[in-house]
This record gives sequence, structure tokens and C-alpha cells, in this order.
Amino acid sequence: MAKRCERLEGSRARSVLSGAEAVLFDCDGVLWRGEAAVPGAAEAVRRLEAGAGKRLCYVTNNSSRTRGDYTEKLRRLGFPPAQERQVFSSAYCAARYLRAALPPGGAAASAAYVLGGPALSAELQAAGVAHVGAGPAPAPPTLDHAQSGPLDPAVGAVLVGYDPHFSYAKLCLSLRYLMRDPGCLLVATNRDHRLPLEGGRAVPGTGCLVKAVETAAEREAFVIGKPSRYIFDCVVSEFNIDPARTIMVGDRLDTDILMGNTCGLTTLLTLTGVSTLEEVQGHLESSCPERRSLVPDYYVDSIADLLPALQD
Ligand code: PLP
Ligand code: CA
Repeated sequence: MAKRCERLEGSRARSVLSGAEAVLFDCDGVLWRGEAAVPGAAEAVRRLEAGAGKRLCYVTNNSSRTRGDYTEKLRRLGFPPAQERQVFSSAYCAARYLRAALPPGGAAASAAYVLGGPALSAELQAAGVAHVGAGPAPAPPTLDHAQSGPLDPAVGAVLVGYDPHFSYAKLCLSLRYLMRDPGCLLVATNRDHRLPLEGGRAVPGTGCLVKAVETAAEREAFVIGKPSRYIFDCVVSEFNIDPARTIMVGDRLDTDILMGNTCGLTTLLTLTGVSTLEEVQGHLESSCPERRSLVPDYYVDSIADLLPALQD
């Protein structure tokens, strides 16, 4: 049935919530904005978990934090305690992907060249994926070295994540690894092209860095994060949830809602983040199937609106 983006309230909210066994939450824009919890969100999460007995998971495209950082942030902002295994970040899932896709450590082409920061490095380390390039504050390789110095013989993949130290020299090294071996994997944590800030401002997202490497390499990256179904497959492999009884809650149509719709989940847009009802309206009025796949089943102004349907 075509999705219509109905407001989720009253008896409909009660029946949709009671039919679900799992709820997947996007984080920034749904549970919090920056360092401020969305008012009422922590109580809604508590009632879903403790009161209604739902399985909860946190699914985020942010590759600049570890799973431990997320459980700590949930605790700090007053959300119910979560285990690290409930957190599916694009950094953790990229590490899982490379562990499966690369040959075992020590073999040829078993390491990754990483454009990313300490959190991405920590997740790779935890998964046992050998890697070079990332670090807390890596000294950018000189341009001469990047263009003609020796390459690490162990590199069999280039992973692009959020990298505040991104540089032309790193772009050169990425291209050299990808051109040296056509079998070298090109993997991206996510394609978010903008990260919104308060006051209508924004900064460029990881998608801009991914595009730079793809353009140089003339290849398309395999994407881990939403809207890719890979990140949802990670959730399923860990918790064996039934897509037909799972709700995806997100603030972005082109990542959260598209992934949920593609994977057969019930989708719920919250208006506390990036996307607006005007955008949904434009997609609803379009006959283009790609745009129709961005329309959620339901929306709420904030997940706090679910509180009346979740009375203890
Ligand atoms: N990437 C980075 C680097 C971010 O800081 C954020 C949000 O803070 C995101 C992606 C988007 O994360 P989410 O999928 O939780 O909205
Ligand atoms: Ca978000």
C-alpha cells in the first residue's frame, strides 16, 4: 500500500506500537540535537523498553564516535542504559564489513587505508582489522610522499569515514592504492553530505569526502550506513528481528526513511531534525518512484508525542 505520511496519534499510535517488537532509533535529530536531549525523548524510550518491552537499537551514520561513546552519551543525557551491542554505528558496521571482506590478518591485502579519526580506528582495532592512515591527529603525509613514496604492501581496502584531517595528500594516497590493485575495495561509512548545526548553519558531511575519492578513482564506493541495507542487515544478524514488526524512527528522509522503506520496516519521521513536512509533500505529489520511496508511513512532531500511547 502507498505510504501516506499520516500523523501517528491516538488509537492508531497505540495499535502501531503494540504491533511492533523492535524499534530502531536514529540518534541525532531524534533523541538529541547536539548535546541537548529532545524534551520527553528519554521518557518515551524508557516506556518503549521497560513498559512496552520493545527491543531497542540505535542506528547512526556518525562514524566519529565509538559504540561506547554512544552508550555513554545515552547515559549522560538521561536515557535508559543501553548495551554496546544495541548500537549500530557506521564505524562499527564498516569494521564488521571489512573483517568479513578482507583476507585474514597477515595475508596479502588484509589491511585498510583509512580516512577517519580515532573512533573509526578504535572500531577497526576492536574487530581485528589491520589498518593504516587513521589516528588521533595524524601528521598529514607530505604531498611528495603521498604522490611517489612507497605504498603499504598490506593494503587491500580504502575506507572513507568522517576525517577532519582530510587532505589532498590523503586523496593522492587513496587513489594510488585503488589504482595499484583493481581488486582493492572502496568502502564508505556513509554519504550524508551535510551535517546541520543550530541556527540554520551546516558543515560538510562525510559524503563530500566519499565523492572526492570516488571522483578521483572513477569507482563507486560500497556504502555501509543508511540508506544502505547493509547496516540493517547487521542489526538482523545480531538480534534476528522481523522487519515486518520493526519501526524505524528517523529525522532524515534520504537516509533513515529510505532505508526503512527499502528494508520493509514501518517508518516514522520526527520533525525535530533535518527533514520537513514540506519535503514529504513534494515527494507525495511526485509520480517518480524514487521520490515516493522517501515518503514515511507516519510522522510525529517529536517522539515525545508517543508518550500518551505509552502510558505505564
Ligand atoms: N556523520 C557525522 C560526522 C555526524 O556528526 C552525524 C551527526 O551528528 C551524522 C553523520 C549523522 O548521524 P545520525 O545518523 O545519527 O543522524
Ligand atoms: Ca539523524
